[in-house]
Amino acid sequence: MPEPYLGSPSGTIEILRKYNISARKKFGQNFLIDDGVLSATVDAAELTPEDAVLEIGPGIGTLTQYLAASAGHVVAVEIDRSLLPVLADTLSGFDNVEVISGDILKTDIKEIVDTRNNGRPIKVVANLPYYITTPIIMQLLESGAPIESITVMVQKEVADRMTAEPGSRDFGALSLAIRYYAEPCVAQIVHPDSFIPQPGVDSAVVTLLAHKEPPVSVKDPGFMFQLIRASFNQRRKKLSNGILNFPGYKVGDREGVHFTRADVEGALTAAGLDPNIRGEAMSLAQFADLADRLLGKVPGSD
Ligand code: SAM
Repeated sequence: MPEPYLGSPSGTIEILRKYNISARKKFGQNFLIDDGVLSATVDAAELTPEDAVLEIGPGIGTLTQYLAASAGHVVAVEIDRSLLPVLADTLSGFDNVEVISGDILKTDIKEIVDTRNNGRPIKVVANLPYYITTPIIMQLLESGAPIESITVMVQKEVADRMTAEPGSRDFGALSLAIRYYAEPCVAQIVHPDSFIPQPGVDSAVVTLLAHKEPPVSVKDPGFMFQLIRASFNQRRKKLSNGILNFPGYKVGDREGVHFTRADVEGALTAAGLDPNIRGEAMSLAQFADLADRLLGKVPGSD
């Protein structure tokens, strides 16, 4: 297998010139050009030849080359079809890489794990497109797929929210959802000059190491995540309004489930909570309890 050769300004510029392409803003393209950052990202993911990796957005294949050199198998999902010929070129010789053309938000992650790694846990590693960081993270958490760890480059400000402690200013839906699933930690702060083009903000590599057992027990974690999202949609408003204004919950196979005000206020009171409570005052354990109580109000969900 070749050595990774794209992790430098000259390697990246050469490929962009060869294919007469430039980074597309609408896809959040900021290509990594810093060998030190790329190596540190792969180190943070603690890859071994036994690992299968899911990469989101391989771009021109820079991080992919590093992943291929350390892991057993890499599946990379890229939305920008114009990059497929580039990837075929830059990843030729890296014979443990499979590129899937598609939108990660419309990709069945569980199916990828089942078919590419026989259902054994995978590791996710990515330099994420910043315009959809939160939807991607939530999708990974809600997918139900066995994921051992997630190591991602995100905006520093998002890293702060991901790792925020309860009660702090940055604490919100993302922090809560992440804490159910994993222990978050910042591996590295990354300066804009590690990318072409340079993003307007600092970035950070964050690792989420999945808990062996979730810290709270809840019947349907996916439903709890939706409740958390609904509650923080209207920050500083009553939690009950956020829950009622959500466009429709997915519970098991049912889509578009709604609750009445009596359902929500009844569940809050039964949980010993003030019906006027706000989302940010709720702990993960309280969300889990509320989710179980509301689930009891969905016919046929037990
Ligand atoms: N991995 C490359 C690197 O580190 O140089 C590129 C990272 S760039 C920040 C984000 C990549 O995600 C781009 O290649 C972009 O086209 C891709 N992307 C954006 N939206 C996507 C989506 N919905 N599904 C899959 N890939 C996406």
